[in-house]
Amino acid sequence: MAVKLKKLYEGKAKIIYAKTSKEVIATYKNDATAFNNLKKGSIKNKGAINNAISSYLFQILNHCDIPTHFIKKIDKKSQLLKKVDIIPIEVLVRNFFAGSLSKKFGVKEGTQLSDTLIEYCLKSDELGDPHISSEHILNLGLCDLNELELIDEYSLRINDILRSTFYSIGINLVDFKLEFGICKKTDELVLADEISPDTCRLWDLKTNKKLDKDRFRRDLGNIEEAYEEVLNRLNLTI
Ligand code: UDP
Repeated sequence: MAVKLKKLYEGKAKIIYAKTSKEVIATYKNDATAFNNLKKGSIKNKGAINNAISSYLFQILNHCDIPTHFIKKIDKKSQLLKKVDIIPIEVLVRNFFAGSLSKKFGVKEGTQLSDTLIEYCLKSDELGDPHISSEHILNLGLCDLNELELIDEYSLRINDILRSTFYSIGINLVDFKLEFGICKKTDELVLADEISPDTCRLWDLKTNKKLDKDRFRRDLGNIEEAYEEVLNRLNLTI
């Protein structure tokens, strides 16, 4: 970036800079973390790959009338976004058992759920992102009932759109994480954060090969190649 912008926030995967009072620039990093920061590393080209993938998917969602924070991709690693106040909830949308859900119920990873399952976690590094119920969310005042109903409605619609997008390129969308925020300019509830191999479980439809961050979490190797495979199948470049 040529002009020096004020850094507002640095997260594990992105840095947010102030652009105007209503817009920010997000720059994607190559850093990778897992298990609440216990495991740290770097994945070559991850920032550029995730920026390309997330920009493309948010564009699709915008076209499908899902309100999102995404305005446009600016360069290899950056996007222009509407400024939002993030609701401190991680929304987990699941089509198949995997990860923490498989562990909790002792069900083999890859077993199909009878219906799409939505779970919530509190966004809190200190507390290790504990799973919470909708009653917890309302009781703690993390958002109101109307907002929570919209979050669920959007999450299911987003799941339908993303599932078919990935299905068309031979990928099974096993599960993913979403974050929502309230737009500073319009007060509207919008989808925020990113959608990428960092935040989704993406398995090859034929072989079940993992094309996502589980390759980093579980030391499966060929991490960059897996992220690149998703990029290539979506017909994107960095
Ligand atoms: N996820 C994420 N960030 C988190 C926690 C989960 O992006 O802080 C994603 C994860 O990549 C997976 C889905 O949410 O696609 C469900 O994750 P799960 O609860 O199974 O967590 P894990 O097994 O990673 O502990």
